[in-house]
Amino acid sequence: MVGIVVVSHSRALAGAAVALAAEMVHGQDVRIEVAAGLDDGSFGTDAVAVADAVARADDDSGVVVLMDLGSAVLSTETALELLDDDVRDRVVLCAAPLVEGLVVAVVAAAGGADRNEVAAEAADALAAKQSQLGLGEPAAVATEIAAPAPSAPPRPGADDGQVVATFSVGAPHGLHARPAALLVQAVRGHDVTVELRNLTTGAGPVPAASLSRVATLGALRGHEVEVRATGEQAREVVDDVLALAADGFGEGAATAAATAPEPAAAVEPAAIPENAEPVAASPGIGIGPAFALRQTVPVVTEHDVPRGDPEGEWRAVSEAVDAVRTEVARVRATTARDVGGQEAAVFDAHLLLLEDPELLDDVRARIGAGSSAAAAWDGAATEVRDGFAALADPYLQARAADVDAVAGQVLRMLLGAADASAEGVAGVVIAADLTPAQAAGLDPELVVGVVLAGGSPTAHSAILVRARGIPAVVGAGPDVLDVAPGTVVAVDGTRGEIVVDPAPAVLAGLRQRAADLGRRRVAALSRASEPATTRDGVRVLVGANVGSVDDARAAAAAGADLAGLVRTEFLFLGRDQAPGVEEQVATYREIAAALGGRRITLRTLDVGGDKPLGYLPVAPEANPFLGVRGVRLSLARPQVLADQLLAVARVAREVPVNLMFPMVTTVEELAAVRALVDEALARDGGAPAPDLRIGIMVEVPAAALKAARFAPHVDFLSIGTNDLTQYAMAAERGNDALTRLADPLDPGVLRLVDAVCRGAGDDALVAVCGEVAADEAAAALLVGLGVRELSVSPPAVPGVKEAVRACDVAAAAELASRALDAEGAGDVRAMLHG
Ligand code: PEP
Ligand code: MG
Repeated sequence: MVGIVVVSHSRALAGAAVALAAEMVHGQDVRIEVAAGLDDGSFGTDAVAVADAVARADDDSGVVVLMDLGSAVLSTETALELLDDDVRDRVVLCAAPLVEGLVVAVVAAAGGADRNEVAAEAADALAAKQSQLGLGEPAAVATEIAAPAPSAPPRPGADDGQVVATFSVGAPHGLHARPAALLVQAVRGHDVTVELRNLTTGAGPVPAASLSRVATLGALRGHEVEVRATGEQAREVVDDVLALAADGFGEGAATAAATAPEPAAAVEPAAIPENAEPVAASPGIGIGPAFALRQTVPVVTEHDVPRGDPEGEWRAVSEAVDAVRTEVARVRATTARDVGGQEAAVFDAHLLLLEDPELLDDVRARIGAGSSAAAAWDGAATEVRDGFAALADPYLQARAADVDAVAGQVLRMLLGAADASAEGVAGVVIAADLTPAQAAGLDPELVVGVVLAGGSPTAHSAILVRARGIPAVVGAGPDVLDVAPGTVVAVDGTRGEIVVDPAPAVLAGLRQRAADLGRRRVAALSRASEPATTRDGVRVLVGANVGSVDDARAAAAAGADLAGLVRTEFLFLGRDQAPGVEEQVATYREIAAALGGRRITLRTLDVGGDKPLGYLPVAPEANPFLGVRGVRLSLARPQVLADQLLAVARVAREVPVNLMFPMVTTVEELAAVRALVDEALARDGGAPAPDLRIGIMVEVPAAALKAARFAPHVDFLSIGTNDLTQYAMAAERGNDALTRLADPLDPGVLRLVDAVCRGAGDDALVAVCGEVAADEAAAALLVGLGVRELSVSPPAVPGVKEAVRACDVAAAAELASRALDAEGAGDVRAMLHG
């Protein structure tokens, strides 16, 4: 990549200009060196310092030098004399204005432009400002050595394989520098010519690869912009640009889509399947009187007229929003403390929605037009909600439930309607579905079980209930809503069964089993920090899945032998640029410290089509789960991975680290990431990291069947049964309608687990870190197949250790071989519980 040198009289000025320019490339690495000020702190420039800076910036791709005034130019010319001939030949001195030129040059360099292109771009950097000030088409600022600025390419005919599309600018401040920089980066480095035209003002066309020219479009929020691309990768690049536009260029669009809460905030819509069969969602047995938790949806009628003047109505909205915000923040804090950081993250999206300026502006405008506070809030929130519901992507559609949950809370507050909060609720809770706030508010001392007519075991409400240790069954169908309050109900959250008004003998049997489970739980807790060894002496590691530093603390308290999966996504979500190397190092160290130096398995960033990140855009995909996700995205945008690997390399020299790559499908991908690991170690000084082990997640059936090809190149293979099951069964995870089909105990999935264990042989340890690892009944089966590490949510660690201790490997192997021959998941489950 082309290096850039800033020569200035003032160190402070140069530093600030570099910081400003770095903002434009969203954390991407660009080689920028500074030669500014004199050693005694005074103003001035020094030719030797300039020559040194050029040498540091040069990696054979050449260097562009930007200078401020007077003697800065003289010193730089003198510096050229001090350089070797071959280096000097690669240096371009650029007469661009320092600040504007640097901003443009950095974006061009990050996009892979060569040194002459970088200098030419920078030289044209005043264009945007001149155009805005009405000074006409600017003449290019002459560069001393740089090639002239490239002119806009000829516009090919419409039948020339062009791809043309339009987007509406949603970024609140239009296509200003940062959004424009993202757009330029998406275009650069591809074999394509792209032009943009502002259809609203008629400005353009301008080359989309030029930051300075894009800015001259003057594209403000709401303007329609045409993208016209020609070349091999035209479709791909236009799709990338549209994906960026849909995301408001990382700044939040004006549309409902842009107010999307973070992916972590998913709440499954409360679809209640007809003829549903109950599904186990949280293990254990609970027996108690039915408690019907009904959430009334307040209706705003046309009779709801303003009670006061518009200011009074707006004040009412502000007060209701403030009160709900305080309540959500409280629930978030207690969830983070009692349940876990990852589970608490759902409430961040609720808080964001309550602060959303678009939503609040709309409410205010409606009040101004004569609506009451409640009608204005309801109207504006419904529009946002409907925006989500209308989206084609089912994942984004599901965000409508978040809007419903939080908007309903505000509306009830405005109308003085009681909130069906979970406070004071006791017995067996029966509801259509639960909002995350309700689930988080259940008191495990009072609530002995949960039965939901709808929902799915992977919904946030189910995760929260599970994390609170309350037995639960979901997807029980609408009939359960007819159970009269007070009727005795027994919930078996391990087997997925409900018994309404059980006969005395059945009740006695259930009570006996519940008491046994309770005793086992106490015993498990007392031995939680001891190793888990089978009856015949085989050690099985039981680790914890961790999604925050709080989770790591919970894992240590629960006796985890290691963190078997650190979902590093938590560091990358909910922000507009990737965390820097230092921030990552600090967080990974904190996780290691929380676990008292036990091994931590850092999984590299696992995002993509189904978990989008604004600063790592992916073109819209018809099937995001089959798209550019996991390691595929990391390899497509390697800079983020390079930074993460550098952070991992640093931490791995201090504490034992497993480095794990998600969604690996081919041995070539593994070779590519291994080479990047070597590069990171070299970048960090080259010393070996003897405690660094490398592995992959096995989530793709093809990878499972090729385990023997991967094994010689890794230390471990960790099976992600959540994804492996959805791919093996062709049943999207989280799709309520397919909950029973997406069963990791299906013999088809188990055969893939078996293939991994046999393929790994003695070369690599096999772990399972998907949800099935937490199923105590499945521990013997997995151990019998050859799995030697189970990684589960922290609260499940003690019970899974006990399940391992109860195993005998020879008997487990016999069980496993019967399970592989079984007809379906039901038969396997019967064997496990038989
Ligand atoms: C899995 O797929 O099983 C897994 C553990 O990864 P995630 O759930 O984070 O996709
Ligand atoms: Mg996965």
